[in-house]
Amino acid sequence: MKRNLRDLGIIVIVALVIWAGFTYFSTTTEQQDLISLKQEAEIADYFNEQIFREFDSIDTELTDSVMHVILNRLAKGMDTVSYEYDIYVLRSDQVNAFTAFNGQLFVFTGLIEQTESAEELAAVLAHELAHAENRHVIKNLVKEIGLNSLILIISGGDPVVMQEITKLVVSSGFSRKLEREADEYAIKYLRDANINPNRLTQFFLKLKQKNKSLPSGFEWISSHPALKERIEFVSENIGDSVEERAIELDWSSFKKSLGQYSM
Ligand SMILES: [Zn+2]
Repeated sequence: MKRNLRDLGIIVIVALVIWAGFTYFSTTTEQQDLISLKQEAEIADYFNEQIFREFDSIDTELTDSVMHVILNRLAKGMDTVSYEYDIYVLRSDQVNAFTAFNGQLFVFTGLIEQTESAEELAAVLAHELAHAENRHVIKNLVKEIGLNSLILIISGGDPVVMQEITKLVVSSGFSRKLEREADEYAIKYLRDANINPNRLTQFFLKLKQKNKSLPSGFEWISSHPALKERIEFVSENIGDSVEERAIELDWSSFKKSLGQYSM
């Protein structure tokens, strides 16, 4: 009898440990965390291959140094910097910028063309960095294609699935919830990097206005749902005014230099 009781006790304890472990995992491990950073780097290799087949990258000393200056400034506002970030400038008249894998950000010349200052581009990139730090792309893909398919790609790099992923990453947006989270972080990054977060609303408003007269190529808007709602959200959460420290770049000559690469 005594022995039976002891066995029962052991069974209960084991069950409790399993239950506790399961509860712990299901509440603290989000699906995107099941893809390691090393695995993400492997997806990045496949993805970049695809992107550079589709678009020309403008990889000059000037674009490189301009993107570095902006990135270094934004990094001052970030609590965590989870990747070695790279920003690639792609030649396309689409007004778009997106975050891909392993800290790689892409911005189209068409979007840079629409910015009036380095601070304005910094605001757009702050939003993209927030997507990256929060691993929104992986989160989104797990939702869209499932964890298993994503893991399969890492082991094989299936070209058809990779094409599908490229389409998802480049031109489809995130849920409202993730966009809001990215805006929230962007405000914080910008504030702490001494850039007025107003720059983000300014850019949204400009796109909203121009969107009426420009027929196509406004993915950054169309992939970012409910622009009006976002403008309101950012305006309401901007906080006290920020003393902006200018990013020292000659923006108009940078834009002019990109002009020679236009389509
Ligand atoms: Zn976004």
